[in-house]
Amino acid sequence: MGDIARIAKADVHRITSGQVVLDVQTAVKELIENALDAGATSIEVRFKEHGSESIEVIDNGSGIAPSNYESLALKHYTSKLTTFDDLTNVETYGFRGEALSSLCALAEVQMHTATATEAPTGTILDFDHAGHVKARDKKVARQRGTTVTVENLFHSLPVRRRELLKNIKREYTKAQTLLQAYAVITKGVRWMVSNSIKGRKTPALTVSASSGSNYVAANVGAVFGPKAMASLIPLNLEIPLSGSALRRGRQGPEEVEESNAEDTVFVRGLISRPTPGSGRSSSDRIFLYINGRPWDSTKLTRSFTEVYRSFNTNQAPVVIADLTLARDRYDVNVSPDKRTMLIHNEADLVEGLKTCLEESFAPSRATFTLAGAT
Ligand code: ADP
Ligand code: MG
Repeated sequence: MGDIARIAKADVHRITSGQVVLDVQTAVKELIENALDAGATSIEVRFKEHGSESIEVIDNGSGIAPSNYESLALKHYTSKLTTFDDLTNVETYGFRGEALSSLCALAEVQMHTATATEAPTGTILDFDHAGHVKARDKKVARQRGTTVTVENLFHSLPVRRRELLKNIKREYTKAQTLLQAYAVITKGVRWMVSNSIKGRKTPALTVSASSGSNYVAANVGAVFGPKAMASLIPLNLEIPLSGSALRRGRQGPEEVEESNAEDTVFVRGLISRPTPGSGRSSSDRIFLYINGRPWDSTKLTRSFTEVYRSFNTNQAPVVIADLTLARDRYDVNVSPDKRTMLIHNEADLVEGLKTCLEESFAPSRATFTLAGAT
């Protein structure tokens, strides 16, 4: 073996960027989260050729001030977090300052942006692969907000690019599911998603902004259709998370924690009624959130399907479930793509959820098919 030497900076950047942006879905996720963090109430997502040619996200958020153009797409530059202490309190989706820099390393990125001060004139920003601004003197008509265009995703990682092209329809479908997850949970945000194939644009998702107390129901109706919505009932569970007794058994006496009021996890949302004897419905639609943040949890998803299976083997559940968790119970900073969240005592949470769900369904086991729609 030769001497140990440092990997060239540009190569490190490309390697690590591929862990933040894994596919079309994660690219879209980073862009829409930035739009939401910027306070957008209107978000348009335009795919070209299912995202293999380009992905464009247009928002009406805060826009970016000219003084921030140069640092915008540099790695670990963020306006959302300054010290590690902040990390336990982050309210924004982003905080690592990695998304734009990763996208620049992996694709061709252009932005149009205007703050209230510059509108109705926006600035066009072109970035190089290190995230530096190549050009910033072109102007464009632009209301307040930001447009980010990502072209030719993964062109700098040829194997990934080939995989992307090969699986593009599946990648696009995953991105649509993600967009549905956000469209369902966001309050007062208008969503428009479209895909253009050979210049012909087809709408994929249209949700108008609703901010009333029933906004989740309104969003679900817009995303899945009024018929799907009519088959749902409110989900409202309180999972008592235990106990110190439970924890004592598992972790040993020195790690016993005081149980307190925060040990109740609230689960709110909508759920389809288990309908015994119904035939196989379309695939599961289980959308899980922690404090409004979409969350993929195989374990929790499985616990919902298991409870359903106890009623009926064929029906696929529709679940929209937002868990209210104390901020010190979970850590979003586990994986670069932030898809994995570390939940303190997740196993107890999963068990608690199953028990609560079974209890809430059990009394109506016999009458479920008769219960009226809400
Ligand atoms: P992070 O979201 O973790 O801060 P990003 O690389 O996604 O990192 O974005 C870097 C910074 O660029 C953000 O902190 C924000 O200040 C700015 N930014 C990115 N996208 C937008 C947008 N759509 N509107 C306004 N500002 C944005
Ligand atoms: Mg971000």
